[in-house]
Amino acid sequence: MQFKFINTVIILLLSVGLVLAFFSVTSFWYVLTFIVFYLLFLLIVSTNVRFNFFVNSISENQKIKQKKVAISFDDGPVENTLEILKVLEKYKVKAGFFCIGKNIKDHPDIFKRIIEENHLVGNHTYSHTRKMGALSVSRIICEIEMCNKIAEETTGIKMELFRPPFGVVNPKIQSALQKTGMKSIGWSIRSFDAVLPSETIILNRVIKRLKPGAVILLHDNNAKTVNILEQLLLFLKNNQYEVVRPDKLLKINAYS
Ligand SMILES: [Zn+2]
Repeated sequence: MQFKFINTVIILLLSVGLVLAFFSVTSFWYVLTFIVFYLLFLLIVSTNVRFNFFVNSISENQKIKQKKVAISFDDGPVENTLEILKVLEKYKVKAGFFCIGKNIKDHPDIFKRIIEENHLVGNHTYSHTRKMGALSVSRIICEIEMCNKIAEETTGIKMELFRPPFGVVNPKIQSALQKTGMKSIGWSIRSFDAVLPSETIILNRVIKRLKPGAVILLHDNNAKTVNILEQLLLFLKNNQYEVVRPDKLLKINAYS
């Protein structure tokens, strides 16, 4: 694992620094500054799935040279998902939906419809707790398995792909993924549709970052995403981009 090697090197360097500081060869302030920067580094890599530091996530397909991209939606299924499905149908586009288990439980018919319309579905934990980074390995496993269970009970589908909530990744999540046999799927274009207020800014953010093999992240529980999606699909069509299902773009299996 990349992080284990880097962690060992950092701890060795810190130990040497502390010894040198103890014998007044160097200042304790240098060692302290080093620690602060390392903690900042850990914070950045644990909140950004694309760095692949703690967890190896598939976030794009760099081998693709043709104008092909994939669109993924997080946090559904909810009522608004139906509006998203209508737009996708209008443009004859297949996308990926990383669903929250308790939302599948509340909206089983919408979840079924996503699958019937041949979109991809993946696991986005059962409760989508904000405390994801603080959960124990067994709690994370429970979150993953409960979401898989409700999806299988509803449709018979056995999901294999996992999208980490908030893009948070750490060694415990890596361990839970290994134990449950799930593959982590990230993104290469984060729209911030759930955060930014302006549709134009969100759309321009995505358009500016477009490139062959990219995976776009949107949220189907967000009302303004319907309009953003329509404009994005129009742009992609006018610029000869083909939208393919995430598993086809990434050349992976979605189900077992
Ligand atoms: Zn989410």
